[in-house]
Amino acid sequence: MDRPLVVQKFGGSSVADADRIRRVARRIARERAAGCDLVVVVSAMGDTTDELLALAEAITDEPDARELDMLLATGEHQSATLVSMALHSLGAPAISLTGAQAGITTDGRYGRARIANVEPARIREELHRGNIVIVAGFQGQSAVAAGQAEITTLGRGGSDTTAVALAAALRADRCQIFTDVRGIYTADPRVVTTARQLPVIGYEEMLELAHQGAQVMQVRAVELAWVNDVVIEVLSSFEDAPGTVIREDPLVEQRNKVRGLAHDRNVAKVTVVAVPDRPGVARTLFDPLAAAGINVDMIVQNVGHGGATDLSFTVPRVELARAKKVLDPIVRELGARELTTDASVAKVSIVGAGLHNAPGYAARMFGTLADAGVNIEMISTSEVRITCMIAEAELSTALDALHGAFELAKPDPVDAAATGRAAG
Ligand code: ADP
Ligand code: ASP
Ligand code: MG
Repeated sequence: MDRPLVVQKFGGSSVADADRIRRVARRIARERAAGCDLVVVVSAMGDTTDELLALAEAITDEPDARELDMLLATGEHQSATLVSMALHSLGAPAISLTGAQAGITTDGRYGRARIANVEPARIREELHRGNIVIVAGFQGQSAVAAGQAEITTLGRGGSDTTAVALAAALRADRCQIFTDVRGIYTADPRVVTTARQLPVIGYEEMLELAHQGAQVMQVRAVELAWVNDVVIEVLSSFEDAPGTVIREDPLVEQRNKVRGLAHDRNVAKVTVVAVPDRPGVARTLFDPLAAAGINVDMIVQNVGHGGATDLSFTVPRVELARAKKVLDPIVRELGARELTTDASVAKVSIVGAGLHNAPGYAARMFGTLADAGVNIEMISTSEVRITCMIAEAELSTALDALHGAFELAKPDPVDAAATGRAAG
């Protein structure tokens, strides 16, 4: 019988230093001794990616996108080679590969490339030779004419996506994401102490949590898993404990309508004050932002007075300086009074697949925040979430209040049945 093929991914904190790398290697070697073929995706050690970014910024205000991706990709090269060496010292055969060597091609967008194709011939060959294959996460090679291929990175948190893409391409039997928490919780367990671990979560709800800031899984990884029907297990790399399974959730309709909370600090509010209230103004402001690749999210236009109105919207906080640079001349040209910004805001969301036909939930969210003394600055909704922008200083108060109000710490009776099914 064929040996089962398992794709495992270890995040940055799981390989943060030599001791942890040796521990990860022991875990991998144990799994192999149990009879599995293994493809292991690793992230850069600890905060390496942040440190490399800071180094580039110390050299220049505007690092060249190509060179930056070449630099960032080295973080994952380091950890892949070190994990491979640690396996060698345990007597286990292993080989490290870059994303390009592993057959991952991308659409070529620096810093936020999407995986276009995976051609895992080399991985299969190495498995056939008896090797454990260690793949550098977060990167691939652009699919352009020979001689012009470039190293591109997949956006922050992109090693999750490497793992899911490889699991899909290799038709792996399991895809396991090892991280520094036991699985997916009803809220970030580092911020909400009463957060409860979920045994199972559906793709749709996980995708929305990821979109709204739950960094435990990269958005693109969840999308790829959903499209390719890859069942993901999220597990702790530090303890042997049951994790969370991400998969199609047929019981979603029977559950608590709010499945979890997400929050996002990477947000800033921009207001164009007293801009002339006439057709075409929004386009004049938002077209150049889109051209610069800056995502505009929540948008509120106030009722106009005397031919002028205020227009507020959010951009990612890391893009605020760039957004200001793009907008300053336009605001002057439009004859608006001024452009103000606020980087001390945050978004808090309630997420649940059942929210679209549950009208009372928005009111309950707003009421809960009001009772907790938290002012709502902007609101946006989708089929499966309600999001409020608030002051960042009030984030923890808001999350605690919402977690209590929607009874998220209370076990969901449907989960017991679902766990039984997942195991069986
Ligand atoms: P890794 O380095 O393993 O990729 P990340 O830091 O990217 O790990 O993601 C894990 C972190 O995600 C956790 O430490 C936790 O603080 C955060 N997180 C946010 N929301 C959630 C959630 N709903 N469930 C679990 N973890 C969450
Ligand atoms: N090292 C990259 C990052 O910090 C990718 C990852 O960790 O998944 O974003
Ligand atoms: Mg991550």
